[in-house]
This record gives sequence, C-alpha cells and structure tokens, in this order.
Amino acid sequence: MATVLDAPYDLFIGGKDVPGARGERRPVLDPATNQPLAQVSVATADDARAAMEAADRAFRESNWAQDDGARRAKALQRLAALLEASLEGFARLETRNMGKPLRESRGDIGYVVRTLEYFAGLADKLEGATVPVPGPRLDYTIAEPLGVTVHIAPWNYPLLLSIRSIAPALAAGNAAVLKPASLTPLTAIAFARLARDAGLPEGILNVLPGAGAEVGEALIADPRCRSVTFTGSSEVGRHIAELAARRLLPVTLELGGKGPVVVFPDADLDRAARAIGYGIFQNAGQMCWAASRLIVHESLRGPLVEKVRAIAEGLKLGPGVEDGVEMGPLVSADHLDRVLGFVAEARADGGSLVAGGERASAPALAPGNFLRPTILADVPASSRAVREEIFGPVLAVSSFTDAEDAVRQANDTAYGLLAALWTRDLATAHSVARRLESGMVVVNEAPISYPQTPFAGIKASGVGFEQSRQAVEAYLRRKNVLVHLGAGKRKS
Ligand code: NAD
Repeated sequence: MATVLDAPYDLFIGGKDVPGARGERRPVLDPATNQPLAQVSVATADDARAAMEAADRAFRESNWAQDDGARRAKALQRLAALLEASLEGFARLETRNMGKPLRESRGDIGYVVRTLEYFAGLADKLEGATVPVPGPRLDYTIAEPLGVTVHIAPWNYPLLLSIRSIAPALAAGNAAVLKPASLTPLTAIAFARLARDAGLPEGILNVLPGAGAEVGEALIADPRCRSVTFTGSSEVGRHIAELAARRLLPVTLELGGKGPVVVFPDADLDRAARAIGYGIFQNAGQMCWAASRLIVHESLRGPLVEKVRAIAEGLKLGPGVEDGVEMGPLVSADHLDRVLGFVAEARADGGSLVAGGERASAPALAPGNFLRPTILADVPASSRAVREEIFGPVLAVSSFTDAEDAVRQANDTAYGLLAALWTRDLATAHSVARRLESGMVVVNEAPISYPQTPFAGIKASGVGFEQSRQAVEAYLRRKNVLVHLGAGKRKS
C-alpha cells in the first residue's frame, strides 16, 4: 500500500495532490550518484495563486483560526505523533534526496517532531492583556493570526527548516504556503500529506515545489500574503526583503553565516577538536551556522590543528544511507564545483592545504559529489574563502595573540549567526561572549540549538529570529480595543 512517502510527488494545494498548471515534471537527483531519484511536478505562478486562494479560503472558512487553540494544539500533537511513527521513512527519504548520513536525518526529523510538540504546547496559550487606562474605560489587546503566511526554505535541512517557521505560524492560527528548495522537495510534500492525515483542515498547509524566481516571487506578490519567512542565502534574502518592503509585509530572514570558533589557551583540546570537526564536517559543512573559521591561540595552534586534521582524515565518506557513513556528498555537482573553486582561490591567495581539498578518490564515490574534509591554513583575511560563506566542509585556520585580537578577528565578517568559544575561565567566557557580534554564542559546545531557544542571526545573517516561545509573535498581530464604560449609562 502506498504511503505518504511514495511517488507521485506533486504539488499539495487545498488538501490534495495536484500536478502543476504547466504539467511539467523535473527529476531530483540522488547526490551520492547523480542519478534521478524521483520526478517532481513543477509549480508555476498560476499554481502559486491557486495555493494562496486555497490557503485564504481555509483561513476564513475553516475553524482553524477561530477555535480557542486547544484544537490546533491537538492537531499539531497528532501530526507530531504521526511523523514520529514514520520517522525512519522520512529520514531515509531526506538522506536520499539531500545526501546527509542517515544518523543526521534521523536527528533532523526528530527535531521536527519536537518543534511541532513545542509549538503545539503554545497554541492554547496565546493571550492578550488588559491594559490600565485612565477614566471609565476598559482597554484590552487580542492576539490574532495574520492570515496566509508564506515560507521559503533552503535545501540543507529540507524538512527541519520548513517546519521551524510553519509550526509557530500554524499554532498561531494562520494558513501556510511553503515553497521548499527545488533540489530537495520530497519530505515537504510527504509532510503535507501527513498533515492532511492528522486532520488539519484542507488548505491550511500547502506545498509548492518550484523555482524561487517564479513561484517564490508570485507568492510574495499575491495580495493575500501577510508575511514572508525566508531561510536561505543572504543574497536572495536581500532581494526578498526588497520585494516584501514594496508590499509592506513583515519578514523573518534566516540567512548565511561565517562562524568563528575561538579557542583560548586553557581550552579542553580534545573536546574542542571533536566539536570543531562536528561544527564544520557535519552535513558536509552545508550549514548556515557552520563554525568555518578556526581562530586559535598561537600557543595551541600546532596541536589543535593536528587533532582536527586527524578527525577530518578519519571520517568515513559515502552515501548517507550506508551504515557507518559519517559524511555524505555535497547536494549537487554545481555546488561541489563552487566549493572547489573557493579552495583553489584560497590556495592562489597564499593559503596552505592541511587536509583534503579535492574530490574523494575511491571509485565507488566517483559518480557522486564527494569532497574530502578540507582544512586550509594561513589564508589571508582578505581572501573570499575567509570572507564569504563556502557552505562546504572547509575550515580556515588563523591564530591570535590575545583576547583583543581574537575578538577583532571573530567580528571581522559581514555575518553574525553563531560563534563558538572554548575556555575554562568563566570571566573570559562571559566577557568575550558579550563582545561577539553574533546572534548565538556557544561556550565549550559544538553548534547546538533547541526549539525553545532563539535561533537568530544579526548583520548579514538575518532579520528577526525563529524558535523559542517568542517566535510565535511573528505570526500574530496585536489588536487593541478601547471601550468607554460611561457612555451607555442611564439614570434609573
Ligand atoms: P537560496 O537563497 O539559493 O534559496 C533559498 C530558497 O529561496 C529556495 O527555496 C529558492 O528556490 C528560493 N529562491 C531563490 N530565488 C528566489 C527569488 N527570487 N524569490 C523567492 N524565492 C527564491 O539558498 P539555498 O542555496 O537553498 O540554501 C543555502 C543558504 O541558506 C546558505 O546561504 C545558508 O547559510 C542559508 N541558510 C540559513 C539558515 C539560517 O537559519 N540562518 C539555515 C539554513 C540555510
């Protein structure tokens, strides 16, 4: 019997699988082999309008927004439970489409389950307030959903980054339209079918696989769109912000990063080395919050780089579905070429190669987009490889002399997403954490986050934030009602 995970992979509009208006289908590839994995219907601008229409109707006519929140909480809990029951199937589909090791995909889908549970718990606690005002007046606020919210997602954590914003939007009573990344739409389509099975009203969640420029822009231009949440590159994020500004739409932008990891002389070197390896080689470095710049105290540089090099060279590369694989391929052949271009440029700029820097040579890996974990040292701070987001398993190493120098180097970037610090000294930890221009700081930890903690970028890394109790506010508006209590008073 077919499950939500199986082909065909169509658009999901108004509770139904539908082919795109042009009838076009495109293959998505398995990045471990570059062979077609599935055919996916391609949405058009007309489909975008149909999805906005379906979402708007569901918002106005179903009880989703009107109910007191308890029913939304139950529906989202049911959805979380259904996803948990299908976790293995979703994880396999994610791995085959995106490439990451199965262990990581299981973690990602588990994170989606937890995110749904977390925001389900908030759905019936979205309260207004009474506000003291002078005279015979009552003033109160009502928290209302916005209407139809648009969500545009990237390919590196395909389902996780789609649902990270959709969960609070749905909990708040909105209807959502999602455009997943063209390279990795499969789990989002399957998820929409699961939402139907969990009893979400038809049209409350719609999914449109398709090109960003056509479908994404048509969604933002649609008069029914009430907010845009975009996760992707800073370049496209800027463009989205401009489109949204023309329509005066609120935006949440989760963008790129170039995270520093600063290692002070008193750090626990073994733990730091493991976390540094995880922070740049997990998901083959295709992470917005990758700790891609290692800034290490000059006294530790030799031993720490040696430990990280040993980790890099010991990682087992292979197709993510195979047992024991620790690093999968990059998402596409184009992306592999782009990353190799950065490595070549770093070397031409004077950087030296400590590890990797080339495609994996094993014959079994040749057809896929496998890059050996790469460490570069002494790349000049002006090089594009140090300044721009590479989005691959490439670590750049530099050293510092004192805390002042470390902070200066860490902040010498257009981005500000996540920074990591390694020290046993409390005063250093807290004082340096304050000085880092970064939306998130981890101390003596690899990059880690939870649905209950804010995920926030500053500078070119974003606008607004996701996760945490407060994230739901981005999907609510506050209406103020002021009542004069004296006017209707009659003398008896
Ligand atoms: P991308 O910017 O190329 O695309 C992201 C999404 O936007 C895709 O769905 C794409 O189809 C769509 N898009 C492209 N052009 C569009 C347009 N003109 N109008 C509307 N939509 C459009 O990013 P990507 O390559 O998919 O993902 C990698 C990037 O995402 C990296 O820069 C990474 O740092 C960033 N990212 C950020 C976070 C975060 O939380 N800060 C998380 C993950 C990834």
